[in-house]
Amino acid sequence: MLMEELFERLRKFQGLLMERVAIEKEIRELPKSIAAQEEVLTRARKSYGERSVRLEEAQTRVGQLRAELADVVAHKEKSEQQMDTISNPREFEALNKEITEAGLKEDQLRKDLKREDENLHEAEAEVLASETLITSQETEVAEKRTRIKNDESSMKARVSELKGLETETTTDIDSEVVFKFERIIKSKQGVGIVPVKGVVCSGCSMILPAQFVNEVRQSDKIVFCPYCSRVLFYQDSDGTQEDMIVDIESGSLADLDDFGDDSEDDGYDSDNDMDGDSDKDGIGDSDD
Ligand SMILES: [Zn+2]
Repeated sequence: MLMEELFERLRKFQGLLMERVAIEKEIRELPKSIAAQEEVLTRARKSYGERSVRLEEAQTRVGQLRAELADVVAHKEKSEQQMDTISNPREFEALNKEITEAGLKEDQLRKDLKREDENLHEAEAEVLASETLITSQETEVAEKRTRIKNDESSMKARVSELKGLETETTTDIDSEVVFKFERIIKSKQGVGIVPVKGVVCSGCSMILPAQFVNEVRQSDKIVFCPYCSRVLFYQDSDGTQEDMIVDIESGSLADLDDFGDDSEDDGYDSDNDMDGDSDKDGIGDSDD
């Protein structure tokens, strides 16, 4: 196989692989998209439990107060009836005292009952709200689960389709190369085959040893970048190569960084430093 064809195949393989990796990531993240709603549902169920307990307690208290009130009222009425049959002032005084106390207790109980009734209504409303929330969340979660399942199966179908195409594309490429290439794409989440521009790997912007660049240039075997492990191919960079070597020899890393921004560099300095302001003010003046 010609190197050019091999590189082309690797690029195609890279395209397929990147799509597959992205889809597989999406598949892994599908359950997360429903996690928030499931959490809401879990909390709603928990608070429904707590609210139900509170409702039961309020019901019990209201029942107790009603029973107590009925007793006190009955007792008071009985004492009042006894008033008709008293025979001396001492009995009257005792009975009168009982009636007064019963009256006070009745007032207190009615107040308590009123308060507890309000509590009871609140508790009922809260339980109802929880029930409504749970029902709507359950519906939503169920719908979303169905949707996720459908999405997942179409994504999985695409993944196996891609795997088929990958196998096709990589037939009669050395399996070790395929393995390494796949690993690079997965770990770098991006391109696995990049050009050497001048003496710099355009994948990681490192300067490569001259010997290495020669190997890449000879183009008779697959060469991996010793720094970023990407597959390298040589790209003629029309003339800029000499500039670059000068830069590298004279230069610091800063120069290299500048170079990394590449291609549109021509006239970079003059663009920024000279035209900048004068352009805006002096459209009419530019004749001279
Ligand atoms: Zn590299």
